[in-house]
Amino acid sequence: MKRKPLVVANWKMHGQRAWIEGFVREFVRAQGTPQHGEVVLCPPFVFLAQLQDALKKTHISLGAQNVHGAEQGPFTGEVSAPMLKEFDCTHVIVGHSERRTLFGETDATVAARFAAAMKGGLVPVLCVGENSAERQAGITEQKVREQLDAVVDFAGPGAFANAVVAYEPVWAIGTGNTATPAQAQAVHGFIRDYLRAIDSDNCENVRILYGGSVRGDNAARLAVEPDIDGALVGGASMAVKDFLAICAGFNV
Ligand code: PEP
Repeated sequence: MKRKPLVVANWKMHGQRAWIEGFVREFVRAQGTPQHGEVVLCPPFVFLAQLQDALKKTHISLGAQNVHGAEQGPFTGEVSAPMLKEFDCTHVIVGHSERRTLFGETDATVAARFAAAMKGGLVPVLCVGENSAERQAGITEQKVREQLDAVVDFAGPGAFANAVVAYEPVWAIGTGNTATPAQAQAVHGFIRDYLRAIDSDNCENVRILYGGSVRGDNAARLAVEPDIDGALVGGASMAVKDFLAICAGFNV
């Protein structure tokens, strides 16, 4: 039996108050109450309060795009897990490739953020994945293993019991070059085996999402793969029609 599907929207640095109001209204009206899976919206921090209100009577959960490793302190521009909890966040993305490549986050700092999310009662959505040079060099699994090892070293072998892993090949993010279902499944299977080796009790329950140019017309083909349990969606999560089609493709 496959796991409950999960589709997470990463709105990155996009959105406005009026647009968000319309998005939620339209999406909820069109989707109704999903029977099978879960949807999480991750807006920029400044819109969390608006979404906390807007999502109250809906089936949709709220997530953030990052979290700091400490609970409070002199960390200008950062937000902590207890702060996110005040806005009813349930999930938080950590280690997105844009954070790693554009903002200098390392495996070690990502691990600290992951652990802070766990400690604060949030479900971390850990992004892992190789860039195109690493894929061409044949070191995709090595890269993903290093990213997972950093979290396990910091948070222990039970780290993923209440976490989500998102396999996001960097070459597929925002490029339109979606990984084929077979390419994605190969890495998802590798991640499942990794989890099995460190935590055999929980490995079958951990959801592994695919991210990288997921659209309405490729979601269902990805969803049939045995270890693809949902999607982390950037660009296509900004259009209600596309996002609905992706949710439908994953049977959410
Ligand atoms: C992402 O940024 O996490 C992502 C998957 O983006 P896109 O869907 O636009 O490729």
